[in-house]
Amino acid sequence: MTARVLVVDDILSNVKLLEAKLTSEYFEVVTAFSGAEALAKMDEIEPDIVLLDVMMPGMDGFEVCRRIKANPKVAHVPVVMVTALDQPSDRVAGLDAGADDFLTKPVDDAALFARVRSLVRLKMMTDELRMRESTGQSMGLLDPASSLMESAAGGRILIIEDRPESVAWFSSALQPEHEVSAVDTFEEALVRVRGGDYDLIVVSLGMRGFDGLRLCSQLRSLPEGRNVPILVVVSDGDRRKLTQALEMGVNDYLTRPVDKNELVARARTQLRKKRYSDRLRHNVQLSLEMAITDQLTGLHNRRYMGRHLDNLLAQARKSGRPLSFVIMDIDFFKSVNDTHGHDIGDEVLREFARRISANVRGIDLACRYGGEEFVVVMPDTDVTYACSVAERLRKSIETTPIEISRAPGKLNITISIGIAQSENETDSAEDLLYRADQALYRAKKAGRNRVVSDAA
Ligand code: GH3
Ligand code: MG
Ligand code: MG
Repeated sequence: MTARVLVVDDILSNVKLLEAKLTSEYFEVVTAFSGAEALAKMDEIEPDIVLLDVMMPGMDGFEVCRRIKANPKVAHVPVVMVTALDQPSDRVAGLDAGADDFLTKPVDDAALFARVRSLVRLKMMTDELRMRESTGQSMGLLDPASSLMESAAGGRILIIEDRPESVAWFSSALQPEHEVSAVDTFEEALVRVRGGDYDLIVVSLGMRGFDGLRLCSQLRSLPEGRNVPILVVVSDGDRRKLTQALEMGVNDYLTRPVDKNELVARARTQLRKKRYSDRLRHNVQLSLEMAITDQLTGLHNRRYMGRHLDNLLAQARKSGRPLSFVIMDIDFFKSVNDTHGHDIGDEVLREFARRISANVRGIDLACRYGGEEFVVVMPDTDVTYACSVAERLRKSIETTPIEISRAPGKLNITISIGIAQSENETDSAEDLLYRADQALYRAKKAGRNRVVSDAA
């Protein structure tokens, strides 16, 4: 793994030492000698991780960290505080400033590489999501998931530990802020995570009955567990277990004896990150949906229909079943706009789309094809049946006026419909479309407000 590391320390020899260690492991190192220089470089070099000295003249490390975490452009970059301080209260101050982890001076090589690799690996997953999200944003569709400093209260936390006194202790620390539950067997833990909607899992690595590490690895392979942060609790000095846990992708750890405030602060950090990445994932999902959905009516858009029609046709060919293609166009729609305004035109389009949806089956594919033209692709459907559905819809449009939000309150409209049925092995999507369009043209010519099929 290679990554760009920003090393920040006011003392040259400290910087040189870390730089040498990291370079020997093929990390790319950029250095800064003050908080101000570090902040300036953040934007410029886009590091994958920051190693930040706490005690610096001018702006101290806590303040630098706070500013990094308050800047939406770089808040996702993990920050490791490198400090001579080693009291839980110092770590809590760092966590409150948004720090992701700590290393104590003099820095131990194994700990350094394990932390850096683990945090960089976790960051890369977020980067992937961020990239996809920014595509959605550049399409002007999304609010960015910007803040990593949102409240973390109300998290659903699962504690996995089989020593009752320990469970009670964890619960009492986390309970006031969060919703906490606990399990004490391997199987129960899997069942809960599969079924449950947890925001954080705390796993003890010192259980009597089973191996917590093996459980972590199983949790990571569950679809429901993959995106839930895991915080492990390990005995002080059990470095082998800790390294294995970090390699496995656990998100953070605490060493026994656990400091209550540190537990609370680390849980809070993980919950904030989880909220942030949930928001990213949600936005990515949304932009995928928006790419295939017509924004005005909520139906599929033309692009999606084009892709999907090919699949449906291939399926029809394979099964030898018919497929019908129905194209609908509102009659004299231009005059609706001209008379009542474009916004009322939009209301009519939305209501028409709703009525189409209400009149077709789940397997039918309804799309807005363009302006006031809509298409329904009906798999497993011959032209006779398609005509009867179309006729029912045409009639309901003709007889039930569309409600609008301005006077006169209702509008009478009619629609014309053209239908084509797929015929043989060589019938392509374009052929089908062409024939349906021709049928529609004939319906318009014959006086509108009617259904015409390519069979007629
Ligand atoms: P015909 O009976 O021959 O179909 O006549 P028409 O007026 O319905 O057809 P024409 O194709 O001349 O006009 C379609 C109109 O649809 C013109 C365009 O301004 C309007 N239109 C297209 N998209 C939208 C939209 O998203 N909202 C609104 N309000 N109008 C739209
Ligand atoms: Mg029209
Ligand atoms: Mg038209």
